[in-house]
Amino acid sequence: MSYINKQWRLKHRPEGDLRIEDFEWVETMMEPICDGEVLVRHIYLSIDPTNRLWTGEKDSYLPPVGLGDVMRGVGIGVVEESRCEKLKVGDYVQGQLGWQIYAVLDGRSLAKLDVTDDVPLAAHHGLLGSIGVTAYFGLMDIGQPKLGETLLVSAAAGAVGSLVGQIGKREGCRVIGLAGSDEKCRWLTESLGFDGVINYKTDNVIEKLKTLCPEGIDIYFDNVGGDILDAALGLINVGARIPLCGMISTYNDRVPRPGPVNMINILVKRAKLQGFIVIDYFKRAKEAYDYLLTAYREGALDYRVDIVDGLEQAPDALTMLFSGKNQGKLIVKVSSDGG
Ligand code: NDP
Repeated sequence: MSYINKQWRLKHRPEGDLRIEDFEWVETMMEPICDGEVLVRHIYLSIDPTNRLWTGEKDSYLPPVGLGDVMRGVGIGVVEESRCEKLKVGDYVQGQLGWQIYAVLDGRSLAKLDVTDDVPLAAHHGLLGSIGVTAYFGLMDIGQPKLGETLLVSAAAGAVGSLVGQIGKREGCRVIGLAGSDEKCRWLTESLGFDGVINYKTDNVIEKLKTLCPEGIDIYFDNVGGDILDAALGLINVGARIPLCGMISTYNDRVPRPGPVNMINILVKRAKLQGFIVIDYFKRAKEAYDYLLTAYREGALDYRVDIVDGLEQAPDALTMLFSGKNQGKLIVKVSSDGG
């Protein structure tokens, strides 16, 4: 069978904020697959802040996407043709499908998904995917929460942050979140049980942090970097832990910004600031999924998924992460779930 593919390719390296013109929409005829390969129809494309880093010219934990190449992106899809023993037609898989409708890949590069009735397929990008693993290990391994401690979370209404806060509550912490709208702040306190919230766009962050964290900060789970990291460092306690998960406030910077003024507190408070990348925890993913699935099935875990319809929308969807328009885990629906 012959397939026509539709793809977004990287045309320019964005300078500052992303623009749709940085990408090019291309339609191509697909070649037949070879031995060992599978043809996958893309269903759900995960849109992640790290996509912006991959469009830059610097190496991050992965090399940059080449100009003219299909934009890299993690996807969930269904096998439509297979010449790989381990995968058959109809299997659901996850891997680097890219910003395109069909992907031809070495079958060994894909993970076969174990799809159960009570968990939606899209959850394999969130709760039961990288987001869940990031939140769980970032907090439990690096943050090491203890009963009664104060946990501060930035981008708290986002995919990672909302899980971190809820795990923190389950572990007995007092949880304070930062988010960029009153609606998001209400969701955190009214639905997720956060003990306090700061709208960092309208509140005086430093003053409000002092009020909401009168005994200081024991764990700061950082998703944003920049001024909020600096403000949190100003209030950390002796022995504080800071899982450095992301620095989204800096990803669109045209020039590097100066480091935090309060960095000295890492020294004088004998604190630990540790960066981590989720891929290093994939081998232990089951531990995270067991914890999160248990909480989810007990009805003790609320989780938002924000689905944008159509691959054509992928570049616009990516900009939503930077304006804060997404309400939870952001996903583009590329094709029908049902087949
Ligand atoms: P989210 O669902 O949290 O979406 C991003 C959110 O960031 C936006 O909704 C917005 O929320 C907030 N934001 C955007 N710009 C700013 C800014 N300038 N200052 C403060 N907040 C801002 O995305 P994810 O949960 O997928 O990712 C959160 C962070 O975690 C990112 O930094 C990402 O790179 C990182 N990450 C790291 C991983 C790792 O392996 N280390 C793996 C996955 C994610 P608001 O409306 O509140 O402003």
